[in-house]
Amino acid sequence: MSSKFAPLLAATNVHKTYRKGTNEVPVLKGVDLSLASGELVSIVGQSGSGKSTLLHLLGTLDRPDDGQIHFEGHRVDNLPPAGRDILRNRYIGLVFQFYHLLPELTTIENVLAPVMIRHSVWSYWMSRRKYRARAKSLLETVGLGHRLDHKPRELSGGEMQRTAIARALIAEPKLLLADEPTGNLDRQTGDEILEVLRRLNADHGLSIVMVTHDSAIAAGADRTVSLVEGRVQADKQAAA
Ligand code: ADP
Ligand code: MG
Repeated sequence: MSSKFAPLLAATNVHKTYRKGTNEVPVLKGVDLSLASGELVSIVGQSGSGKSTLLHLLGTLDRPDDGQIHFEGHRVDNLPPAGRDILRNRYIGLVFQFYHLLPELTTIENVLAPVMIRHSVWSYWMSRRKYRARAKSLLETVGLGHRLDHKPRELSGGEMQRTAIARALIAEPKLLLADEPTGNLDRQTGDEILEVLRRLNADHGLSIVMVTHDSAIAAGADRTVSLVEGRVQADKQAAA
């Protein structure tokens, strides 16, 4: 298939049902969603509407029961686990509501952790200056250039989320998937995190899918998609 004019990310007729014993919970019932390169899209919906489920499928953390996920025109939902791991490590950054920082590591070490894990000691050592410079620059981009050597317990919630965003970008992904990135923050700090995401999108061309139950945060995206009863209800263009 030609991928030249394909969207960066597309979900087609995606279904997902959770099964526990004889109990079936149908969550997604035919979701269609497409993201152009350079877009910032928000997905809104009530708690339990399947937002996290959809984001996990888009990020190949889980597989749909039916339907397909394409990334850069290539089908990815049916890749074997090792292939999905490579895709995720190289092309997709993930951010969650809880920051999942390692408490013993400093801010810059947390940002570097994914590359340290991915590379052998030797190859990390050979490229350490390049990676440290990139980590420092990312932390400056998210407004944390003055907190490189702090531990997570010395950071505010907003600063921890900024660190998690920088960590998600260390491998230079094409796509950032954020699940309730402001969900644990007060309004003003949430707005600041939204502003960080908007700047990464506008200035660095990063494509972003952001899940939120907060319509004020969602309105900061180029486009909002609503999940209702397992399907995408409407695409509304945000006012400029
Ligand atoms: P949201 O992120 O919009 O709040 P979720 O995608 O987390 O919604 O969950 C959608 C529905 O699927 C909820 O009813 C939830 O209880 C159920 N669910 C989510 N994950 C699982 C799972 N691993 N096993 C069973 N049910 C699940
Ligand atoms: Mg959720």
